[in-house]
Amino acid sequence: MSRPLTAIVNLNALRNNLAVARRHASQACVFAVIKANAYGHGLERSALALREADGFALLELDAAVRLRELGLRQRILLLEGYFDMRDLQVMVEYGIDAVVHCHDQIRMLSGLRASDALDIAVKVNTGMNRLGFAGDEFPAALAELRGKEVVRNMMVATHFADADGERGVTWQMEEFRRLTEGSGLPRSAANSAAVLRYPETHFEWVRPGIMLYGCSPFPEKTGAELDLIPAMTLASEIIAVQRLRRGDIVGYGSMFVADREMRIGVVACGYADGYPRHAPNGTPVLVGDRIVPTVGRVSMDMLCVDLSNLSVAGIGSRAVLWGDGNSVENIAHAAGTVGYELLCALAPRVPVIESGK
Ligand SMILES: *Cc1c(COP(=O)(O)O)cnc(C)c1O
Repeated sequence: MSRPLTAIVNLNALRNNLAVARRHASQACVFAVIKANAYGHGLERSALALREADGFALLELDAAVRLRELGLRQRILLLEGYFDMRDLQVMVEYGIDAVVHCHDQIRMLSGLRASDALDIAVKVNTGMNRLGFAGDEFPAALAELRGKEVVRNMMVATHFADADGERGVTWQMEEFRRLTEGSGLPRSAANSAAVLRYPETHFEWVRPGIMLYGCSPFPEKTGAELDLIPAMTLASEIIAVQRLRRGDIVGYGSMFVADREMRIGVVACGYADGYPRHAPNGTPVLVGDRIVPTVGRVSMDMLCVDLSNLSVAGIGSRAVLWGDGNSVENIAHAAGTVGYELLCALAPRVPVIESGK
């Protein structure tokens, strides 16, 4: 038998979660965001499961080309645009749309032939201060792009810094409205948090990512509360059991010391699989149908759980690290990070199984 750790990707969950996004933004077209290998779920399988989306958004040009080669015909938008002339030519060739966020990218357009055509999303910086033209340079950039023969269709895009948090979106929305109101162009602003919480941000195109994978964008809400289904379940088995006496330790650095007799299960999953090394004692693992706490430091290939109160569990018992019955949000919270980071860091060595075809 091979090592029991697998990531099960539930294609029905992806479809369900896209339907939830559509229900919230029923007037808008949806770019399904599938950057970073579809947040760790696998680019091709995720794109095919989400093929009802109106478009796909990602950053990696080679991945975008693969989508075209798979036969997907909808819009594909590169969220950071192109980095050099070669990228730009490939995008023209494959009909891949580009975010244009800086003057360098506008200049590169002059290197295309007059017969070339490109659809673009002009990015405006409304306060996040990551990508995009500043408010005072945006009108001139837009005018310049309107004058380019190679620019076919345009839309305007921005990104929110705090759609999932307390500050919200109003402060950025005022600027976005002011700059784009008279443009007559389609607009795109909403990430998952804005899709779920702020209908006024939906405009013509929304860009949900994390919610498609069943993970809540909000710190205080789980995916289940939002009708989302986890698309990835990271599951393994107990491969060894140890009996501890009072004073015995578990794992590197003696980070856990038993204060009584205990029964410990060793799970085949560690940080080289993508499980967070910073998960402290007490991080939840679902063994059988019960949540049990981790004990000791997560090592490269294994982690340990307390089975003292779960006598039915032993070697071969199923252990869900995250996913069905043990939400990735909880693991992320315990480890001081977000579900996004855990999902997209799933290690290549973990075999993926598809369910819900
Ligand atoms: C990643 C990304 C999204 C999706 O964000 P989620 O929080 O995962 O929904 C949308 N827009 C841009 C520009 C992004 O980079």
